[in-house]
Parts: sequence; C-alpha cells; structure tokens
Amino acid sequence: MKFATKAIHAGVQPDEATGAIMTPIYQTSTYVQDGVGGHKGYEYSRTLNPTRHALEKNIAALENARFGAAFSSGLAAIDCVIKMLQPGDEVISTNDLYGGTYRLFTTIFAKYGIRFQFVDMSNPETIEAFVTDKTKLIWVETPTNPMMNIIDIEAVAQIAKKAGAMLAVDNTFATPYLQNPIDLGADIVMHSATKYLGGHSDVVMGILVTDNEEISKEMYRIQNSTGAVTAPMDSFLVLRGIKTLHLRMQRHCENGEKVARFLAAHPKVEKVYWPGFETHPNHDIAKKQMRGFGGMISFSLKGNKLEDAHKIVKKVKIFALAESLGGVESLVGHPATMTHASIPKAAREKIGIVDSLIRLSVGIEDADDLIADLEQALR
Ligand SMILES: *Cc1c(COP(=O)(O)O)cnc(C)c1O
Repeated sequence: MKFATKAIHAGVQPDEATGAIMTPIYQTSTYVQDGVGGHKGYEYSRTLNPTRHALEKNIAALENARFGAAFSSGLAAIDCVIKMLQPGDEVISTNDLYGGTYRLFTTIFAKYGIRFQFVDMSNPETIEAFVTDKTKLIWVETPTNPMMNIIDIEAVAQIAKKAGAMLAVDNTFATPYLQNPIDLGADIVMHSATKYLGGHSDVVMGILVTDNEEISKEMYRIQNSTGAVTAPMDSFLVLRGIKTLHLRMQRHCENGEKVARFLAAHPKVEKVYWPGFETHPNHDIAKKQMRGFGGMISFSLKGNKLEDAHKIVKKVKIFALAESLGGVESLVGHPATMTHASIPKAAREKIGIVDSLIRLSVGIEDADDLIADLEQALR
C-alpha cells in the first residue's frame, strides 16, 4: 500500500460491535474477563488500550515497520529509549538538538551514569572518533532544530552497526511522509506527535517505532513499567490528524519553499536555513533521503540584533508567537530566548543559534498572505 492509503487505513477497521467507521475512543481503564486469563487482548489500559493500539499500528505502518508505541509526550518517548541503556553506557548525540532532549540527557540521565557526547554530525566520519566499546546508542535529529542541518542517516547507520550500537532518529521535523529512517538503517524512530502527526496543535504526544523484535520487547516493557502512556482521547485525535498528514505535508512543503525564497531575497535578511536550497551545505543528502524539504525555516537578520528579532516576532499578525511547530497554523519563535534558552549561550552560538535567529513553522494558510505578513513585519 502507498502512503496516502496507509495513512487512512493502516491499523484501523470498523468497530466490531457497532460498525462505527471511526476508531472509538475506548475511555476505559480495564476490561472484563470471561474467566481468569480469558480476555480479548486487553487487560488494563496502561498495558494496552484499543484506541492507542490502533494508532500504534498505524504509525508503525507509516514508518514501514512492525512495532509502534505511543507515549504521553515526545520527551517520554525519548526517556523510554534511554532507559534501554545501563549506567556506564555512552550515547553519541547530534549537537544541534531539540532543547528539551538536551536537557533530558544532561540534567536527568547524566546523573544516572550515562555519558552523552554532542557531536557535529554534518560530516558523519567525525562520529567515529567518539565511538568506544561503551557506545550503545547514536541519537540523530535530522533536519536539526533550529539550524536545519541534514545528517546522512544511511552513513550514520553504518557507523552504528560497526560500533554495535543502536541508531535512533528523531523524525519529528520530516515526518514519515518525507523521510523513513528505518528504511535507511535506523533501529528506532521517534516522533513528537505533538507536531506534524497530530497537526492541529491540540495534543502532546510521543511515538516510538522499531522493526527490531528485541528492541520492541524492551520498548513495550518500559512503556508498561514506567507508565508514561498516552490517553485514548489523544490517540483518537492523532489518528484523525494522520488521515490528512500527506495533504498537509504537501502544502507545508509548497508554502515553505515560497517563504524561504521570499526571505532569501529580502535585503534585511542575513541568512536563510532551509534544506531545499541548492546552496544548503547538505542539500544533496536532503535530496537523497527526503521526499520534500518541509515547512521549517530559520533565518537571521543583518546586524544580528536581539531587539530586531523580538520586534519582528511581535509585528507579525498571521504567524503566532509560540513554542511548538507542525500545526496547520503558522508559528514564529525566537530560539535563543524560547525553545533553546535552556542551552547555555556559548554552546548555543557555537551551533549557530545567534541572537537574531528567528524560526518559522510555515503552516498551510495561503502563501501570499504569509509572505505579505512577513514583508510588513520586516519593514
Ligand atoms: C517538540 C519536540 C520534541 C519533544 O516533544 P514533546 O512532545 O514536546 O515532549 C522532541 N524533538 C523535537 C524535534 C521536537 O520538535
């Protein structure tokens, strides 16, 4: 089955009891058994719930894999991956990383004896110098947030394999519509479903997908043992969101390109970060591993003044000033003082998050209106 058909049909079927075409919201904690052990596959909703189960099967299919698990947030999904490790294990992570992931690694798990190294992976060979016999996980985010760097998943997968380490890819920005890391050799795919999968800025949720049976057993064991599961109502909302993921992503990509080209031609703009430009340092890899370039764009201003960036994010009228991304509506953010404020200034600037950097999540409104909005704000 192709993507659009899977997005709508994978994992879901008419309700057996009533014929309801939409997966019911099974708002229940427990399930009546005929006799001890006589259940229909569901015993208790932390372990498994039918609405969540439908979503888990659906998203696994979209990533061309067998096993999916849904969590109460993207960070809870990442938390599950790190809990597969032991004290003393080492993780090599992308250095240009979602701020919350960096905080989880450095302020929660580091104190349990797991060692994290943050590496610029734009040239994957750099990773090899950091591999030791304790390296158990390589963590990749691509495109990166907010610098839109592209990491060659296939090349990193080869390094991970050689090192005997798992490769996990945060696929939040690309979504399975644009990129399938497991097809490129990754062991685990992670999503903040809060973003494009949900797509309507009304849910916080995380997803893990794997095609490795052994990893899936650990994933489900940890999901059930630590209990950060997502709710039936939220599972329903994300299932509903995914039914239009392909249509939304097509428009995000079209609008993203138009806005990126407008910004690149604007005299007040210093630099535009968008992987669709041929001048982007990893454009060739983006073209190879992605089916489109998405609607996430960052740009910096001539003169690099924080006040100018703050003025622009205040002046825009259609773009809403808010954290998060991936919804139907366009958002604008200022990484240095918002999403990435938890990363120390020096570390931030080293990866390019300068004071004037502005990040856009280009929505699916009319592109002409979005460009006119940016035009007046820049003026
Ligand atoms: C938002 C986000 C996360 C964290 O997900 P939550 O659902 O907010 O917990 C992780 N990675 C990326 C790339 C994100 O954008």
